[in-house]
Amino acid sequence: NRKFILAERPKGEPDDNTLRLETEALPTPGKGQMLLRNEYLSLDPYMRGRMSDAPSYAAPVEIGQTMVGGTVAQVMSSDVKGFEKDDWVVAFGGWQDYALSDGTGVINLGKDPENKSWALGVLGMPGLTAWTGLTQIGQPKAGETLVVAGASGPVGATVGQIGKILGLRVVGVAGGAEKCAHVVDTLGFDACVDYKADGFPAALKAAAPDGIDIYFENVGGAVFDAVMPLLNTSARIPVCGVISQYNATSLPDGPDRLSLLMGMVLRKRMTLRGFIVFEDFGHLYPEFSKQMGDWVRDGKIKYREEVIEGLEQAPAAFVGLLNGKAFGKRVVKLTA
Ligand code: NDP
Repeated sequence: NRKFILAERPKGEPDDNTLRLETEALPTPGKGQMLLRNEYLSLDPYMRGRMSDAPSYAAPVEIGQTMVGGTVAQVMSSDVKGFEKDDWVVAFGGWQDYALSDGTGVINLGKDPENKSWALGVLGMPGLTAWTGLTQIGQPKAGETLVVAGASGPVGATVGQIGKILGLRVVGVAGGAEKCAHVVDTLGFDACVDYKADGFPAALKAAAPDGIDIYFENVGGAVFDAVMPLLNTSARIPVCGVISQYNATSLPDGPDRLSLLMGMVLRKRMTLRGFIVFEDFGHLYPEFSKQMGDWVRDGKIKYREEVIEGLEQAPAAFVGLLNGKAFGKRVVKLTA
């Protein structure tokens, strides 16, 4: 069994010393356990948080422990009710070829699921994040303007497409012309603004002439700075992620604009609400699963995925994810 363990807590961007590939004997399942062979490993921004021991909503990975992660896996042998040999499952199998599980939190996809890796993206955790964050916190009403950061990523792409289904004007924000073209031409957003291009704040203002009613926050930093003056009275801001800060080692340079923001939240009676998807909205998974399954099957929601071949490529692919190198959902295909 090949596995990546956390060797060292990164300072800033993870580097070659952060994770280490080790090999051990194949684990033997005990009573009430099953042996899973991981086929796809999901790469997700939250993993940067697990590498750190800074205060968080979840415990960090300990030094020497296998790096955590969602996987699509096949059951090799099972002593767990509801799971048989050869079933495909979504599990929390980690950055390794094989994993043991007692079935907690594992979803059975059956013997022959279509597009099984999608269960790590649009049909799984990122999809649930998009759907719940937008509907439960965003409280969308047809005709309103929704701005979505990280618009080409698995969460943002899904948020915007749901926004279109619900009758909103949807403006994406993404890095670079190629991602922006995809967001408009393939995903069907009304507009997409490149935050890396000169004149970004003015371009965003032009794309949202009636102001912003819902801002789906995935990135923070300079994108939020441009969004802030455009927010309408009673705006809702689902705070889903702040990826621009995940590798940061200090606060950004001043001026400190926190009091400006607080004054604005007050005057405009805005709602900012953070959420952690499974803690807050895990109970909505069955409803989500049905709704999103229908939308994807009917072609109403499109999905872009990047498959990286080989477990040994996972660390570099993860650093690239944090740097904007990913275009769509990144998964690693394991070859054990
Ligand atoms: P993404 O694929 O969207 O994340 C990677 C993308 O983030 C990059 O491709 C890049 O896009 C963008 N990015 C990186 N750095 C910056 C920056 N400095 N400024 C602006 N954009 C940047 O990942 P996901 O769709 O999986 O996740 C999106 C967000 O949702 C993340 O913040 C994640 O942590 C959060 N999340 C939160 C959950 C929750 O329960 N609260 C659950 C799941 C995800 P570009 O090239 O356009 O810059």
